Amino acid sequence: MTTHALIKDFQEALGKDNVLGAEADRYAYSYDSAVLEPAVPGVVVRPTDVAGLGKVVKLCNDAGAPLTVRGSGTNLSGGTIPKTGGVVVLTGALNKILEINTEDLYARVEPGVITAKFAAAVQAKGLFYPPDPGSQAVSTLGGNVAENAGGLRGLKYGVTKDYVMGVHFFDTDGELIKAGGRTVKCVTGLNLTGLMVGSEGTLGVLSEIFLKLVPPPAAAKAMMAIFDDVEAASQTVSAIIAAKIVPATLEFLDNFTIRTVEDFSHAGLPIDAKALLLIEVDGHPAMVAEDAAKVEELCRAHGAKRIQVAKDAAERNKVWEARRAALSALARVAPTTVLEDATVPRSQIPAMIKALDGIAAKYKLTIGTFGHAGDGNLHPTILTDKRNAEEWRRVEDAVDEIFDVALALGGTLSGEHGIGLAKAKYLEKETTRGTILYSRRLKKALDPKGILNPGKIMGE
Ligand SMILES: Cc1cc2nc3c(=O)[nH]c(=O)nc-3n(C[C@H](O)[C@H](O)[C@H](O)COP(=O)(O)OP(=O)(O)OC[C@H]3O[C@@H](n4cnc5c(N)ncnc54)[C@H](O)[C@@H]3O)c2cc1C
Repeated sequence: MTTHALIKDFQEALGKDNVLGAEADRYAYSYDSAVLEPAVPGVVVRPTDVAGLGKVVKLCNDAGAPLTVRGSGTNLSGGTIPKTGGVVVLTGALNKILEINTEDLYARVEPGVITAKFAAAVQAKGLFYPPDPGSQAVSTLGGNVAENAGGLRGLKYGVTKDYVMGVHFFDTDGELIKAGGRTVKCVTGLNLTGLMVGSEGTLGVLSEIFLKLVPPPAAAKAMMAIFDDVEAASQTVSAIIAAKIVPATLEFLDNFTIRTVEDFSHAGLPIDAKALLLIEVDGHPAMVAEDAAKVEELCRAHGAKRIQVAKDAAERNKVWEARRAALSALARVAPTTVLEDATVPRSQIPAMIKALDGIAAKYKLTIGTFGHAGDGNLHPTILTDKRNAEEWRRVEDAVDEIFDVALALGGTLSGEHGIGLAKAKYLEKETTRGTILYSRRLKKALDPKGILNPGKIMGE
């Protein structure tokens, strides 16, 4: 499917340097951050401008070659594994911040802009872009939109979809489609912006994104509540939400994760704590003071044995950086790290955490649990070695059970990591057969040759 003629066409359209056919290059883009079998693409291309991106899409469609767009490949659901070979399209060179509009509070970006660089550029202009995936130092905004990424601030500020005002994208014919735009209100036509958010590269290729910006909070207060009982910590999460306080961030770490992260980051986390809650409230200074006092009171009432309030921004950042390093820290412990994304209604967090303990014991596995507990989004992380076939079977059974429990508790298969290849087989358990068939019909109409990221989300 990646014939000599197609490669020649790519070279003409993009220049020879931007068409990578060497074996090492092709292997480098055969996998992503999910623990799945790699698949080697026939060729890797790197458009350096938006027009080049459009040409690539059309050339692939004309040749019937599968096309997998890749931002930074940090997705955890196999979204960038080119399962049926074909062409991997890198967006790294499409990395211009086209506009940060401080009058109308929006920005326009190319899809390859790195999330943290964008957030810093916005901050430098006195504004705020809240979505902050743990991978923000490397992930791209195109990848964030295509995965509808969340982050530590999702509880109060929402996820990527809450900031996407519009998108430009290429359809399979290489036609440019424009949806949404600069205005806060825009109901023109079908909600194609909504369709593209979370579409994981299966329905079109994003070329420009309009993002909403907000004023930064005037004040913030971060604290760490230390528990010697996991159940008490998880019940505190539910209690804070039930008390109608919405912290910007409310993160949970179990003892295994605390010790592993501390070993890696030396941020001063209490390694003897059974569980930690990292909580930040932000907003108007008076409200911050009031909310922080209420949160402290609730933590104590639910058995926190100590509460440490960050003295200054440096102390606060140290702890947040440590939290963001949780996955990388856990990944050092064993050859294979399986990070899951099961999400439940917040009131069910205690039940989910209890169930995870039971699953770890039942399948004799090490599971470190951390995550965005305030929005019900936990990341049970199984540390294993995929080369051990017997253990790997237990891991697969444990993962099946994690999702069964999450769904039984009224939860979802994915809070933020998408479905990709990894969870396509579970989709019907959460939705219906009809949902899958409807999605496939939509895909067939928009991508009749099935070239856009085949096999992702709705399976074959
Ligand atoms: C350490 C670590 C921490 C993480 N923490 C979080 C977290 O807190 N929250 C969270 O939500 N996720 C998290 N993730 C997952 C991941 O970072 C996100 O899914 C992120 O949005 C992926 O961005 P990316 O640029 O790496 O995209 P990629 O992985 O390259 O691509 C993701 C998907 O988007 C598609 N895509 C990319 N660009 C385009 C485009 N231009 N047009 C159409 N489709 C496109 C791809 O085809 C693929 O299906 C984490 C991952 C790691 C490794």
